[in-house]
Amino acid sequence: MELGVPISAGGPSVSHLLYADDILFFAGASIPNVKKINAILEDYCSWTGQRVNNGKSAILFSKRTSSTTRSRLAKMIGCCKVAEMEYLGVKLALRRLSRKDFTPLIQKARACTLSWGIRHLSLAGQVTLINSVLLPLSVYMVTHTGVQRAVLNDIEKICHSFFWDRHATHKSMHYTSWESMVRPRCKGGLGFHTGDNWVGPLRARITWEFICKPLELFQKYMRHKYGDNPWHYDGRKGSSICWKIICEGAHFILKGIGWNRPKLLLCFGELLVDIICGISIENGLSTYSIEMVKSPLGSTISTMVYNSCFMEDDDPICLIFKIRMRPRKKLFWWRLYKDNIPTNGWLCRRCLSADSSCPLGCGEVEDINHITCNCKKLRDVLTVLENWGLVVPRFCSFDELWDSIGKFADMR
Ligand SMILES: [Zn+2]
Repeated sequence: MELGVPISAGGPSVSHLLYADDILFFAGASIPNVKKINAILEDYCSWTGQRVNNGKSAILFSKRTSSTTRSRLAKMIGCCKVAEMEYLGVKLALRRLSRKDFTPLIQKARACTLSWGIRHLSLAGQVTLINSVLLPLSVYMVTHTGVQRAVLNDIEKICHSFFWDRHATHKSMHYTSWESMVRPRCKGGLGFHTGDNWVGPLRARITWEFICKPLELFQKYMRHKYGDNPWHYDGRKGSSICWKIICEGAHFILKGIGWNRPKLLLCFGELLVDIICGISIENGLSTYSIEMVKSPLGSTISTMVYNSCFMEDDDPICLIFKIRMRPRKKLFWWRLYKDNIPTNGWLCRRCLSADSSCPLGCGEVEDINHITCNCKKLRDVLTVLENWGLVVPRFCSFDELWDSIGKFADMR
């Protein structure tokens, strides 16, 4: 008699999983199995002097176990029976997780924003908190289990509101769309990693391990049940969420995969190489294996896949993020360049103000050119500074100013 439960018919059994001081046992629901587990635990305790905390332990039965058997076995092993439990922060339940299961995650994000407040935070500080605390809250969950799109939307809404609203209960104007902020910094965004562009790359990491480490425990079991080709997901009913995660990651990995043309050209002629490159790689995986050709220093699979999702040229604003400057100044430049500063001209364009002229009485339209270069008050201040011996360069327009910053950055 052996402990353990196979995840597929005729497949290898899993008897236990260990992580730090957490232990998961798997066994058929029978009295001899419970006796055996009890004997193992007693032996272990007598050898090490450690004790099992029954209050923190729980037993979970399959739906097919009768209620009398459940009660009897739970009593024998001395811990309470539950319908679901949490292991390493992920809920284990014998059903698909619903939106309600992630309510604590959303509440945690909301509680964070409420406790921080924004009175003493600059926009740059808010960017840091969103990037390092709010969005990562869901990353772990998204990598390991199926999280509803609606849950991720809720967390993103909390982030967007935290960034622009003056108070949680007071709506303010959102000067720029969330979509333009969630792009990488070099592509003109603020580098927020959100559901749409980050879930796939995160999952690609798990898929890569599935492809490259076929002999590891998890990979071995999954291969026995679903085969070795994650590109052949047929959406069949009853597929586990783990397999879906692997298949989704596979779809993203495919974007960066291709034949090594220069190497092929060393052995074959152009025509043959063209034919070889036309063969889809994912179909031959049982015979061949994919190899990582170049991995930029310090880049993870997730980062590489993420970057491959943004193939367009860099946005000129990336210049600012490369210059050494305080984060809040960088963010101000980002707002200037993206034209999301509420000048009177900007407000007037959106029918939020009737008057587009400069409030300092210059008689000109207050826009980006005006506030950065042409405002009379600004020029007066610069003249005073010049009289003191502090020469500040002057520009006719924001474009000219921006060119000059570009030259300055190149020089460095
Ligand atoms: Zn002015």
